[in-house]
Amino acid sequence: MSVIIFAESTEGKFKKATFEACSYGAKIAAATGSEAHALVIGSAPADLSVLGKYGADKVHHASDAALDEFNGAAVASVLKAAMDAIGAKYVVISGSFNGKTVAPILSVKAGAALITNVNSLPASYGPLVVRRSAFSSKGLADYTTSADVAIISIIPNAIGVEEHNKAGEVATLDAAPAAKNTTVVSVDRVKGQIPLPEAELVVSAGRGMKAAENWTLIEKLADTLGAATACSKPVSDMHWRPHTEHVGQTGIAIRPNLYIAIGISGAIQHLAGVSNSKTIVVINSDAEAPFFKAADYGIVGDAFDVVPKLTAAIEAFKASN
Ligand SMILES: Cc1cc2nc3c(=O)[nH]c(=O)nc-3n(C[C@H](O)[C@H](O)[C@H](O)COP(=O)(O)OP(=O)(O)OC[C@H]3O[C@@H](n4cnc5c(N)ncnc54)[C@H](O)[C@@H]3O)c2cc1C
Repeated sequence: MSVIIFAESTEGKFKKATFEACSYGAKIAAATGSEAHALVIGSAPADLSVLGKYGADKVHHASDAALDEFNGAAVASVLKAAMDAIGAKYVVISGSFNGKTVAPILSVKAGAALITNVNSLPASYGPLVVRRSAFSSKGLADYTTSADVAIISIIPNAIGVEEHNKAGEVATLDAAPAAKNTTVVSVDRVKGQIPLPEAELVVSAGRGMKAAENWTLIEKLADTLGAATACSKPVSDMHWRPHTEHVGQTGIAIRPNLYIAIGISGAIQHLAGVSNSKTIVVINSDAEAPFFKAADYGIVGDAFDVVPKLTAAIEAFKASN
């Protein structure tokens, strides 16, 4: 009985979420005395064995050309075939956009238990007990299942990436996808920007920026740092920024090395998606803003005064180094 990990990639690169899922799967494999098998589906990065670094004992590739464009039902049928071929007890799937599509379909196909929004390693394996985020991240719930096979869907960036340095032995998996009953008509990809879940540096701003046109200040700071941009929920609700930038409980969860929050109050729903950041810098004109309690560094000041000065200081530092 093994652990299978759904290994997602995009544009020839594995996602950070895949490394995290591998790290997580490797720990389950170690705790249960089994092997961690990563499954790469469709077009794939050139070096598959890199997943060994993050804990995969074996990396299987199902390379049918029909799988090159993501299709949830087709991917689930290949994962099911892999579960049967390898003999899976646990399946680890990141709660990414694609993972959220695949996990419930696979759960029905395989008759497996599905536990979503998982944010920690299982507390026990017989029966499986695993903790998940509940009640819109205001609480935690311990779920248990006695099902033969469990699919564990982890919140991206909730667990973190760890290196395990396993073999990552590459094998081919002959599994043709089941006939499609849905067709992907078109895909619009955001080009030329760092995807937020992958970003190590993030400059984020909230309603304190007052209007969409003031984001030139935020973009300039982000460009100077080579950072991705993010925003609070009201900002994307008001269409000042696209919804793809909304971070938090109902948006994207991130875990960058540096998160700079400008004109954001620090509501619990916002913190739910960003508090795993390694270093948090808060710029807010209100010294009582709740975000300062979660900050490593804080600047009490007007963003329209502080941000240009910070950008200029970073530019000067870069020019002299
Ligand atoms: C079910 C639910 C889910 C939610 N999910 C999310 C989520 O995923 N993500 C999210 O972000 N929110 C979410 N929210 C909304 C959340 O509760 C807050 O309302 C929201 O985060 C506030 O956004 P904000 O900090 O940009 O705005 P505000 O709360 O209005 O804060 C603006 C901040 O800017 C500061 N400011 C004002 N002017 C300046 C200036 N010139 N310079 C510097 N600082 C200034 C103010 O002091 C203030 O702290 C959710 C709410 C609910 C009920």
